[in-house]
Amino acid sequence: MTILAIHGGAGGDGEWRGLTALDPERVQCMKRVLESIGSSLESGTLSALEAVTQAVELMEDEPLFNAGIGSVLDEDGTVTMDASIMNGKDGAAGSVVNVRRIRHPIRAANAILKQGWPVMLNSEAADNFAIQNGVEAVEPSWLITELRQKQWNLWKEKSARPGATDEDDSVLDHDLEGMGTVGAVALDRNGNVAAATSTGGMTGKPKGRIGDTPIIGAGTWADSNIAVSCTGVGEAFIRTCAAHRLAMRYDTGISLHDACQDVLNAVEPIGGRGGVIAVTADGNVATPFQTMLMYRGVWNNGDLSIGIGPNDVDLDSMDS
Ligand code: ASP
Repeated sequence: MTILAIHGGAGGDGEWRGLTALDPERVQCMKRVLESIGSSLESGTLSALEAVTQAVELMEDEPLFNAGIGSVLDEDGTVTMDASIMNGKDGAAGSVVNVRRIRHPIRAANAILKQGWPVMLNSEAADNFAIQNGVEAVEPSWLITELRQKQWNLWKEKSARPGATDEDDSVLDHDLEGMGTVGAVALDRNGNVAAATSTGGMTGKPKGRIGDTPIIGAGTWADSNIAVSCTGVGEAFIRTCAAHRLAMRYDTGISLHDACQDVLNAVEPIGGRGGVIAVTADGNVATPFQTMLMYRGVWNNGDLSIGIGPNDVDLDSMDS
């Protein structure tokens, strides 16, 4: 049994308004990721750990998601990225915070995990470690896309609070929002699970702000039973230790659905909204969210499904 679930961020309020002009590109990216990494998981070529790393790398390379190239811009108009990864089998973890000069933050987190100690590195030291360990170096300006620059300009013009343009549909339509954090969870043929998450954070975030994505137990968690990746307003996911909380709730014997719902209920009263993806070692998978949409996809033993709004996308009606 092998499963891969991915997300490309959650956000928005109110009724689902349908696909935007750019959504088919996001769907095609998710399809490519699910098909290529899913079949490698099935054939046993990839472990869960390598599968989530490669899945997230591919999504970091898609400029329409908020990770790697196409990350949102902070208050100074620069890209600063966070990522973390965890392996269920041995609890090994790696995390980078505030990196600016690498193409694939998740590969950097993976390199830290493999080194074994420490678990987290930040800023210049994290960029330097990553580059010394073979992660591709890029110019900070290479990470900035026209779309994100436009979004930042609007944020600045409106003197909006950090993240406002990520969440408020009256400010921007959802092609311009900052949502788009990416994540993956996988179950491999050996029954091991792993989780990975990568983000540029929120538009206009203050210098030095750290969200939930690089925090093990908040945005990312994996143990021998379950792997979890979260997306949404990071502060609420930190305050509830969301990913770890989900795992602990699942350990009590409740269903995966109920464990996910518990976490979404916990973040809501403290200003958190978003979604989670989770896979269990015994083959359950869930991708719930409480926002208008969450980009998400599941490859479950060869069956593929992709959704953005409440229902799955009809893949047959889309060009491949
Ligand atoms: N959780 C991310 C953060 O707070 C943002 C997101 O998932 O959209 O940095």
